[in-house]
Order: sequence, then C-alpha cells, then structure tokens
Amino acid sequence: MNYEIETRCIHGTDTNRERHSFGAVTVPIYQTATFSHPEIGKSTGFDYSRVSNPTRRELEKVVASLEGALDAVAFSSGMAAITLCLELFERGSHFVCTEDLYGGSFRIFQTIGESRGRSFTYVDTSNEKAVEEAIRPETKAIYIETPSNPTMQVTDLAAMKRLADKHKLLFIVDNTFLSPYYQNPIAFGADLVIHSGTKFLAGHNDTLAGFLCAAREDLAEKIRYLYMTTGACLSPFDSFLVLRGIKTLAVRMEAQQKNAMRIAQWLKEQKEVVNVYYVGLKEHPGYETSKKQTRGFGSMISFQVDCEETARRILNNVRLITYAESLGGVESLITYPMLQTHADVPAEIREKLGITAVFLRMSVGIENCDDLIADLRQAMHPYF
Ligand SMILES: *Cc1c(COP(=O)(O)O)cnc(C)c1O
Repeated sequence: MNYEIETRCIHGTDTNRERHSFGAVTVPIYQTATFSHPEIGKSTGFDYSRVSNPTRRELEKVVASLEGALDAVAFSSGMAAITLCLELFERGSHFVCTEDLYGGSFRIFQTIGESRGRSFTYVDTSNEKAVEEAIRPETKAIYIETPSNPTMQVTDLAAMKRLADKHKLLFIVDNTFLSPYYQNPIAFGADLVIHSGTKFLAGHNDTLAGFLCAAREDLAEKIRYLYMTTGACLSPFDSFLVLRGIKTLAVRMEAQQKNAMRIAQWLKEQKEVVNVYYVGLKEHPGYETSKKQTRGFGSMISFQVDCEETARRILNNVRLITYAESLGGVESLITYPMLQTHADVPAEIREKLGITAVFLRMSVGIENCDDLIADLRQAMHPYF
C-alpha cells in the first residue's frame, strides 16, 4: 500500500501488527545488548544491538518511509550522523557547502574534517552560479541546508541536483529544518539526507537522535558497515521515544507552522523589529522556490531588532517562551545565534550573514498563539 505521509508517521509502510508479541500495538523496547542464536549458523535476524536492534529497526523503517529512502540509520545524535557522513569520503575530498550551516556542522568540518584532509568551501547555495564556481576537480559533494540556519535562505534542490550530476558529485541535504513532513530531498535527487532527530522528528525537546538516509544501495551498504564499526547507535529506549514522537509529526508540524505564520506577521508590525526572516512570507526571497519543492514553510523564524538592548530585553524577559538552544519541539524556544548556535562561526562570516547582536531565532511550538504573542509583547515592552 502507498499510504499518505500522515499515515506513514504512525504506521510506516508496514501495518502487519502480528509482528509484535501478544498483539502489542506499539513496538516493545527491546532493552537487550545481545540476542541468542537458535543454532550454529542461524540468527533471529538480530545478533548484537550495536549492529541492529528491533526497536531501532522499527524507527529506521518509519524514517526511511517518510524520506522515501532505501535505508535510514539511527544515530545517538545528529552530529554522530554527520560524523559518519564525513567518513564516507576519502582524504583530499572537497565539499561545497551552504554558508550558514548549523554551527556544529561548521565546527566539525573546520576541525576534524580539515585535519583529516577534507576541505570545505562555503557559499550562498541559493545562488546556483556561486555553487558552480566553487566546484573544483577534487570536489566530491554538495552539502546543503534549506532553509538555512539561521538566515532561512532557500536553496533550489533541482538546481543542485543538476550541478551534482553535471560534475559527478554526491548531493547531501541536512533536512532538519523542515522534516520529512514538509520536504523530501530524495524526491529531488539527493543521495543522502541527514536529520538531527532531536528536533522535529522527536519533537518534545527530550531526547537526542540523528539519521542518515541513503537513496542508493552502495551508499546504504557503506553506511551500515561504518555504523557497525564505529558504534554511535541510538539506544532502544531513545528509539522508542523518537518513534513515539514521529506519530504526531504531521499534526505538530501543521500546528507549529500555523503559529509561526501568525507570529511572523505580528513581528513585522512591531516598530522594534527591523527584519523578519520567515520563508512563508510572500516577500521572502526564497518563497517561490520553496513553493516548488516543499509542502510547507515550517516554523523557524529569525528576526532582527532595532538594537542590542531590545534583543537582550526579549531574551531576559520571555516567560512562556524559553530562552534555550535547539528547535522543533512542542515548546517554543528563542535563541541568540551569535552567542549560542553560531558562536563557532568566525565573526566576519557572522557579520556578513547578519548574525549580529540584534539577531534572534525562534522555534515556534504548539502553545496557544495568543499566549505566545502576549509573551513576546510583554518581553519587548516590559514597562507598559
Ligand atoms: C541540531 C542540528 C544538528 C545537530 O544535531 P544534534 O542532534 O544536536 O547532534 C545538525 N543539523 C541541524 C540543522 C541542526 O539543527
């Protein structure tokens, strides 16, 4: 059966419930490190939980079905998935990347990546020409985030695929910001899709997880081998939590987007707000591209305020909204990218991108939107 995405969030592609003991509706947490062998040379299909575990396997099947991937591998964090992704490439490999990547990705590329002989060029990947100009003979992959973090630049997936084919490169997308509910890069030709499962997939700000999804058999095999060898696997309990979170992915994403749209509109009207970066606003430069390749705009908003004092006042005075890193959960969070998520990005790059002392990023949750707006209002104007 070809189920729609809302159904696949709950059941994956496999609705045969007899597979769980006693007809259990949800997958048991197989809290075991190892599995007995029925006889010499025989396996139940599971031997050792670093390699695979039934609870994790169930989660991986659901994520693979959501992304339209051949295989999805569940890691202990998004960074563990990105680390393994780097291991797929030999020394000397060069990457063309989105310039405002997640700060942790930038950090790993610049430290471990560079010291192990990989090199990285950062460009505005919403500019196809800039990407092509950055490609060198030793380039092996295009690595993008769209919308980017935190300036919400939209990269054209089909254009990147054309460049990747023309220059025989792998096309890799970190799809954390929209989740598979709103965007499926494999449908546009991506070879690998990465997720920080910590964010929208798990959705409750309560567990870390990561995914590496492969569109091709040869890549899937290589990833499984490296995964078994390096061991940054997701525990059975955390696998259960992420599976549980994904069951409500569709309703959460819709509710979060609805709130985000209203908050973006409200922010635009505030005299203290100078600039609102939300892809769902018609004037956003990525709006049209986004409409071609996504089912929605998500719930991440960045905005610039009039002065540093306003930015600090908001962060210090929010009550309902939490001043914290991370994103994608049911709780609304607000962060200061300059000091937190993007602190490792060199100051001159931050300046160029506009990630300054007046730049804030908000992950909109599923609280009542009037309550969220009232909280932002009182934080902005605590004296009224
Ligand atoms: C959070 C995040 C990561 C890292 O994931 P962790 O689960 O925190 O290790 C990678 N990419 C993006 C876009 C993220 O937001």
